[in-house]
Amino acid sequence: MPLPLTRRNFLGKTTKGLCAAVTLPFLSPSDLFGGLNKEEKLGIALVGLGSYAMGQLAPALKETKNCELTALVTGTPAKAERYGKEYNIPDSHIYNYENFDGIANNPDVDIVYVVLPNSMHAEYTIRAANAGKHVICEKPMAVSVEECEQMITACKANNVTLNIGYRLHFEPCNQAIVAHTKSGKNGKPKYINAEFGFTIGDPNQWRLKHALAGGGAMMDVGIYCIQAARYSTQEEPVAVIAQEYKTDPVKFADVDETIIWQMEFPSGAVANCTTTYNFRTERLQVSYEQGSLRANLSPAYGYGGIRGNLGREALNFGNPNQQALQMDAMAASIVAGTTLTTSGEEGLRDAKIIEAIYKSIAQNSARIEL
Ligand code: NAD
Repeated sequence: MPLPLTRRNFLGKTTKGLCAAVTLPFLSPSDLFGGLNKEEKLGIALVGLGSYAMGQLAPALKETKNCELTALVTGTPAKAERYGKEYNIPDSHIYNYENFDGIANNPDVDIVYVVLPNSMHAEYTIRAANAGKHVICEKPMAVSVEECEQMITACKANNVTLNIGYRLHFEPCNQAIVAHTKSGKNGKPKYINAEFGFTIGDPNQWRLKHALAGGGAMMDVGIYCIQAARYSTQEEPVAVIAQEYKTDPVKFADVDETIIWQMEFPSGAVANCTTTYNFRTERLQVSYEQGSLRANLSPAYGYGGIRGNLGREALNFGNPNQQALQMDAMAASIVAGTTLTTSGEEGLRDAKIIEAIYKSIAQNSARIEL
């Protein structure tokens, strides 16, 4: 049943809700409620109208039940004109990077979704929080542990929520593995193999510039392997050992090309992970302590249709719109005053692991304790 809540009064209610926040793991929006009425949906402003924002998130917002696109933030007037028309966003709701802070006075914006190059995530998250808006920030949360901590502090100080765009927390195949681990049916996971990489094109793109990306394949897609190892074990790693390989020192002068690393977990489980900008790979395998059951996903992390198996059971849920599920769950949790597993603290945990991986490489593959 829809809650009797409108955008105008929700911030006050949310403030109350935040004080009583509880962590609800892997919550689906329908677990909370079936969907808000049109006038009760939370409004989202997309910041940075690049390929993910306009190729995935904006179209997904046409399918969401609990939120809708109400504002755009872009530095490119031609995009403002094009997408303003396409998504029926009035000029008064289109901002650039200079006048962005004025979004504080826009009651139609409840959530600011930061979809900029990685090194800009911290600044725009903090500015959004200071404008009194809830924040969703794309992965990786930021380019350093210090920035992640500043983002969490700013959101807490302004009593707004912070979520990271970890869409796989709402994806049924990955969640089937989480549920299997939690069930304990085959004992604990003993070994995880997680790989995610692709061949990167244009040598001039921001992903290859350290100042904008903060790192290479590790920051971009290696983070999915860290996430997968953490959620499939339901444990936090205690140490990492990493090796870096570079076949093109010109193209990858500024960032990492291929990193292979191991993570040790308190139960004794080990994860062996690979990330790269030099070839395509995308898989998750989890071997459990008892029986011959193994969980496999390949592809495991993209949004073109994740497939796999849990022992003999096929994992195939079609291809639900992950971005719509993610944004609906985040909007629902804001209204309900709950905290999801995609909070800023989750992004911070990954940032600490990434820093440890880079430290291991810098120290000639030393074992770095977390
Ligand atoms: P993109 O290059 O397509 O878009 C980046 C946007 O930022 C562009 O609109 C660009 O104009 C704008 N921008 C503003 N200042 C810029 C600057 N100084 N340099 C370069 N661009 C600038 O990138 P993208 O693929 O949309 O990635 C954006 C963010 O989304 C990244 O943090 C990325 O990790 C994340 N992402 C997440 C997923 C996911 O599945 N969750 C998928 C893709 C990207």
